[in-house]
Amino acid sequence: MTTMAPAIDLDALLRRLHLPTVRRLYPELAQRAETDSLGYRDFLAVLMAEEVAHRAQTRIQRCVRRAHFPFLKTIEEFDFTFQSSVRLALLGSVLGPELVTHGHCLIASGPSGTGKTHLAVAIAYRAIQNGFDARFTTATALIDDLSVATRKGKLRHALSTYTHPHVLVIDEVGYLSYGPDAANVLFHVVNERALHHRPMIFTTNKPLAAWGQVLHDPDLAQAILDRVLERGRLLELRGPSYRTRHMKLDLQQPPESSSARPARISGNHRPDFPEPTPVRCPGASATLTQRDGCIAHPAQAHPAGMERRRDAENRYPDCIGPPA
Ligand code: ADP
Ligand code: MG
Repeated sequence: MTTMAPAIDLDALLRRLHLPTVRRLYPELAQRAETDSLGYRDFLAVLMAEEVAHRAQTRIQRCVRRAHFPFLKTIEEFDFTFQSSVRLALLGSVLGPELVTHGHCLIASGPSGTGKTHLAVAIAYRAIQNGFDARFTTATALIDDLSVATRKGKLRHALSTYTHPHVLVIDEVGYLSYGPDAANVLFHVVNERALHHRPMIFTTNKPLAAWGQVLHDPDLAQAILDRVLERGRLLELRGPSYRTRHMKLDLQQPPESSSARPARISGNHRPDFPEPTPVRCPGASATLTQRDGCIAHPAQAHPAGMERRRDAENRYPDCIGPPA
């Protein structure tokens, strides 16, 4: 004896449950299941897996739209042989979920065309793939936006655009000149995010020592860098511009500051590198040179440096060259 299934409007149910992918795929899959003798469990599992995969994809697309990236580039598209001052292995901690769970920060500095924005976008995009949201802005746009909001007495409200996203990219610090309250409004963002251990990625074409001048306030610039580098790293990119790589231009600075030297990535709890890397921080940044690990300094010069070097060698055996 066969029992008649009650007439159920499956389409309506799936609509009500917000399962559009199941609704779209089940008629065809049901037919295939019959011809291929697919079991009930497998049939259901395939439909659910499709629904989940589709949702993940649409979430990523939505987050990318909201991030306001100037272009979408991935870490897989970054040519590490062209930009040899950065190694993929050294980016590990900012490419995984720990970027957000540990609140890591990064400052990518270097001349134009060395891939700073590409890397910043790629790291933020990876965070989106890892389930977080991100927001990209230029320093100019952020400062303008918050300066206007301050004048209108709406700073608190405007700040949330920059303090709420899991990951914030602030591109091009130092490219253009800013108004008098630049450091003030930027500090609000950085301080709030640092308090909640939220990652920040900066790109800049200026040495950190120049941020005081760029932001018109050496003390606040130091306070900003101090908070960013507490959980952050400085990644110095070098070499020619990728944009004009076909032209073989030589627009680089004189030798001692440029491409002959290997990468310098530094930050608290991060490896120092063997080469001397004096950073002059007039006025504001005096403590930056002294803070353990904030800025790389000659690891060979004292026992603590030797210890950090050994630590770095253990953690990144492929990346640390022989002592200078
Ligand atoms: P910057 O921000 O340092 O001025 P960008 O990140 O905007 O430079 O890079 C300029 C262009 O060159 C972008 O299209 C970027 O994708 C590309 N680019 C830069 N460096 C690399 C690289 N190492 N590998 C692949 N593409 C790169
Ligand atoms: Mg750029």
